[in-house]
Amino acid sequence: MDTTPNCYVPGEVALPKDVEAQIDRRRSVMGSSYRLSYARPLHFVRGEGVWLIDNHGERYLDFYNNVASLGHCHPSIVAAMSKQAQVLCTNTRYLDDTILTFSERLLALFPDPISSAIFTCTGSEANDLACRIAMSHTGGEGFIVSEHAYHGTTELVAGMSPNLGQGVSLGRNVRTVPLPASERLTCAGSEFEASVRTAISDLNRRGVDVAALLVDTLFSSDGVVPDPPGFLAGAVAAVREAGGIFIADEVQPGFGRTGGSMWGFLRHDLVPDIATLGKPMGNGYPMAGIVARPEVLTEFGRKARYFNTFAGNTVAAATGLAVLEAIENERLLENANIVGGYLRERLGALRHRCLGAVRGAGLFFGVDIVDGSDSRLPAPASAKAIVNGLRARRVLIGSTGKHDNTLKIRPPLIATHEYVDVFIDALQDVLSGTAHGMAVDQASPGSRSA
Ligand code: PMP
Repeated sequence: MDTTPNCYVPGEVALPKDVEAQIDRRRSVMGSSYRLSYARPLHFVRGEGVWLIDNHGERYLDFYNNVASLGHCHPSIVAAMSKQAQVLCTNTRYLDDTILTFSERLLALFPDPISSAIFTCTGSEANDLACRIAMSHTGGEGFIVSEHAYHGTTELVAGMSPNLGQGVSLGRNVRTVPLPASERLTCAGSEFEASVRTAISDLNRRGVDVAALLVDTLFSSDGVVPDPPGFLAGAVAAVREAGGIFIADEVQPGFGRTGGSMWGFLRHDLVPDIATLGKPMGNGYPMAGIVARPEVLTEFGRKARYFNTFAGNTVAAATGLAVLEAIENERLLENANIVGGYLRERLGALRHRCLGAVRGAGLFFGVDIVDGSDSRLPAPASAKAIVNGLRARRVLIGSTGKHDNTLKIRPPLIATHEYVDVFIDALQDVLSGTAHGMAVDQASPGSRSA
């Protein structure tokens, strides 16, 4: 059962012959589990700051991609990556200054007692490693995750990713806890804590000790739930009381996305035992990792060797360093706060009967799309039509949440007021031309039909 939101569905809309031919070519060589975004797939040939440029030379405003979080092809990052690639690319089995400087700079951005790093290439590997470490540190094997979480692709963490749908089994020792997303503006901490305590009891009754609570601190795939700040504290305390640890998945919220601060967990005034990092860490270069309290790593380090061929290589280290420098030099935390505040204001001022709660922090927003009835039920078809309507107006966002009715809006951290205006104008245009039952393939200025 495929639950991929907003992807191309063969035959749903008529496409130009050359696009159909590309899709066929792709299908003939790329595995069937791949998906293409949007009802009308896009073909980009270049990226530049907030823009993606397609094969017809059209510019799209990228308010979705949180990998190139500092903008596509950021000049100083590309320069640092290319300079190092021309000199040396080796692995963590050699002494090297760049990886040490990068580790020191990265760890200095975390509160005490987080002071050790291990590098991986993907967020999935980082979460997988964090879970293995949690098991060896605690002796437990139980994990608690949010109801619609996504944590990655390995057997272990796909089993902790209910977001992948019914077709992907959850681990036997995995329990999910609900988050009020589409229905409410904020999450009641006491309710979340109670659900976590119930999950712990359920694991214990089956003879399983809890190893960790693993959550994305912005609950991105649960529909973006950042508020109220601090709501996670009771749940984390409950898990620690039961002998487990707290793993903060910072793959989405990390590196300044939440505005004002580097990490999502800071919003909850918590220090995790392990934080996992990924996506924006290399602004497109595949790098990820974990940072942790050193004691949490001791038992795993005693028993197991960890070597990841490409992770923490010299090019990755130089790239990661350039990312940290760009965030600082360009004052992007401050920018995310200021421009994010403006985006919140403009989103909040929109009036349309299909608009529900607006949740967000920094430059990451979830906007619920509901039906026009008094009960304001989730309206995933309308959300899909809005996402595709924006795509037709050359603005890219996505959707998320348990019901897939939450618009997922993630401008790059270099966004300015001007780009927010472009986005809001396009959104207003889509909303005013449409109501409920919007067709996925709604006609719009500039959309290319077959
Ligand atoms: N955790 C979260 C919260 C994510 O959003 C993702 C990727 N969408 C991952 C982990 C996995 O990262 P990767 O795709 O780099 O393996």
